[in-house]
Amino acid sequence: MAARLEPIGLKDISIHDPFWDRYTQLVPEKMLPYQWRALNDEIPDAEPSHCIENFRIAAGEAEGRFYGFVFQDTDLAKFLEAAAYTLAWRPDPDLEALADEAIDLIGRAQEPDGYLDTYFTIEAPKSKFRNLRYGHELYTAGHMIEAAVAYYQVTGKRAFLDIMCRTADMICRVFRTAEFQAAYPGHEEIELALIRLYDVTGRRDYLDMARDFVDRRGADPDYFLREAEHPDWIPFFGQTRTSPLERPYHQCHLPVREQTAAEGHAVRAVYLYSAMADLAWAYQDKTLSDACERLYENITQRRMYITGGIGSSGYFERFTTDFDLPNDSAYAESCASIGLAMFCRRMLQNTRDGKYADTMERALMNTVTAGAALTGDAFFYVNPLAVWPDNCMEETSMAHVKPVRQKWFGCACCPPNIARTFASLGQYAVMTAPDGIWLNLFFAGEFTASLGGVPVSIRCETAFPFSGEITLHIHAEGPAQGTLALRLPAYGTDPSVLRNGEAVRPRLEKGYLYLDGPWQDDTVQYRFAMPPRFVWADPRLRADTGRAAVMKGPLVYCLEETDNGSDLAALAIDTAAGLTEEYDPALLGGTTVIRARGKRLRADADGALYRNTPPEETDAELTFIPYCFWGNRAPGEMQVWTRTC
Ligand SMILES: [Zn+2]
Repeated sequence: MAARLEPIGLKDISIHDPFWDRYTQLVPEKMLPYQWRALNDEIPDAEPSHCIENFRIAAGEAEGRFYGFVFQDTDLAKFLEAAAYTLAWRPDPDLEALADEAIDLIGRAQEPDGYLDTYFTIEAPKSKFRNLRYGHELYTAGHMIEAAVAYYQVTGKRAFLDIMCRTADMICRVFRTAEFQAAYPGHEEIELALIRLYDVTGRRDYLDMARDFVDRRGADPDYFLREAEHPDWIPFFGQTRTSPLERPYHQCHLPVREQTAAEGHAVRAVYLYSAMADLAWAYQDKTLSDACERLYENITQRRMYITGGIGSSGYFERFTTDFDLPNDSAYAESCASIGLAMFCRRMLQNTRDGKYADTMERALMNTVTAGAALTGDAFFYVNPLAVWPDNCMEETSMAHVKPVRQKWFGCACCPPNIARTFASLGQYAVMTAPDGIWLNLFFAGEFTASLGGVPVSIRCETAFPFSGEITLHIHAEGPAQGTLALRLPAYGTDPSVLRNGEAVRPRLEKGYLYLDGPWQDDTVQYRFAMPPRFVWADPRLRADTGRAAVMKGPLVYCLEETDNGSDLAALAIDTAAGLTEEYDPALLGGTTVIRARGKRLRADADGALYRNTPPEETDAELTFIPYCFWGNRAPGEMQVWTRTC
C-alpha cells in the first residue's frame, strides 16, 4: 500500500509569490496585529470581542462577567494557531513573546482537572458538558488543541501542548464514563484536533476518542434529546428543553457511514468529514473512506458554488438540497470553504488523487481569498456571488449579506480562521511521502524535502494563476531516487514537460504527472494552457440557467460596478464572441483582466416598471476581474453568473 502523503513542514517551505504574498504576508504584517487588538477590544467602532478579558476573569485576575459567544475562546485559539504557523516562516521574537504570554494566561484560566472554557468557568460551572448540542465546549477545546499542536510543532515549546493534553486527558476520562458514553459534540472540531494531538504525542487514547465521537453520531435514541432532561442543562441560542432536534443540522441523522449527502451546518459538516478522512486512514476503514468519497461527490457535484463556497442558506448557515445555490442570498461562509479545503487536503493525502487538489484550490483561491480585504483589516463572513448593495438590508432575508467587508464580527470565527489558513498555505501546496514529492499548488518560492533519504531543495518560478508556466530548479545533495509529482489540474490543457531542455512524457495518474528520478541538478519546465473560458452550470441549478461564468485556471471572475456601471443584471454576455485577456500590473496588485462582448438592456425612457415590448439593447463590453479581488475598490454591485445572449 502506498504511504500517506504528508504536508511539508512549514519551516521547510518559503512562499514568496506575487499572487499569494498579498494574502500570506498580510498575516504577520496586518492580520495578527489587528486581530490581537480586536481580541483586546482596541479597535474603535468594531464589535467588541472581550476574548482576552474572559480569560483574565476565568483566571481570577479580573472582575466581571463573560461577554461574547459561548465559543469566544476560539478566537484566541485560532489567533495563536496562525501565529504559530507564521513563526515557522517568519521568526518574530515579539510575536512569540506575546503568544507565550497568552499561553500563560490560558494556563492560569485552566481548572485543576484540565477543564478549559472561560464561559463555563465564569458563568455556569455546574453545567459543564450538560449541553453538548449547543454549548460548544468540545469545539472550543478542539481549536485550543489545534493551536497547541501547531505551537509545539513550530517552536518546540511544550507549555501549551501540556496544557491541552491535560484538557484532552480530562475529555477522554469524562467521555468514557457511563453517563457520557453516548455523548458527542453538537459542533464537530474536537475529533480532528484529537487526531492532530495523537500525531504529535503518539497517544492512542486520543485517536480512539476521536473515532468514538465520530461513531456515536446517528445512534438512537439521540444523546442530545436525553441531555436536555438533566437539571443542570442550560439553553443556548434560544433553545428550550423541548426544542425539536434537527438531526441533519448536527450530522447525526444517520451513522456517518450511512450518510450520502452533505447535510446541515456547513462548517460542522466539513470539520466532521475532515476527521472521518483522517480516521479512515488511521484505522484503514474502507466503509469510512467510502462515506467520505460519497459526501465529497455530493458536495462538489450538487451543493458547491463555482467559487468553492458551501452552505447556501442564510438561515442556519447550512446545506439545503441538491442544486440550490442562489447567488445573491448565498451564505457560503468563509469558514466553510476553509473546512472544505481541510477535508480535500486529507482526502488528497489518503488517495493521491488530484481531483481533491482541484477542489482545495478552488476553495482557497476564490472564497477563502475573497474573505479578506487586500488591506488585511476587513473580512467577509458571507460570500455571495451577486451583490446589489441597496437590497442588502437589515431586517430582511438579505440581512446576512454585506456588500463591503466588515472590520470585525460579534461572532468572529472567520477572520482568524482565514489567517491560520493563509499562514499554513505551504501545507496545502507541497506534500511528501518516502517515494516522492507532490506539488499540489503552484507558487513562486522554495522548499526542501527528502527524496530517497537525500536532501533536495527545489526553487519554483511561476506567475500562476495568470500563467500556466512553472519552472522548477532542483538541487539534490547526491543522486536522489523518487518521483516528482506535478499536478495537472482539470482546467489545464496541452501539458508539456521539459527536463533539462529535453521533452519528456511523464506518466499521468489521477491528475498528477509523475517524473522519475534520479535527481541531482535538474531543471523542469512545466507548462499547461489555461486560456480564459466560459463555464455553464447543470440546468437543474436554477439560479444559473441561461447564464455563464468566466474563469481562468482556478480563478472565478466577476463583473464589478466599477468597471461595468450599475445594473449588472441588464448585461448579457455573447459566449460565441470569445474572451480576451490582458495583464494589468497596476490593478489590484497586478491581475489579468478578461473582456467579453455582449449586450445591455436599456430602461424605458418614461421609467415604466412594466411594458408590452421588450427593452432595447445596445452593444456592450464586459470587463471581468478575479472574484477573489472583488470589493477592494469603490463599493458597488458584483456578479459572477451573467445572462447569455
Ligand atoms: Zn466563520
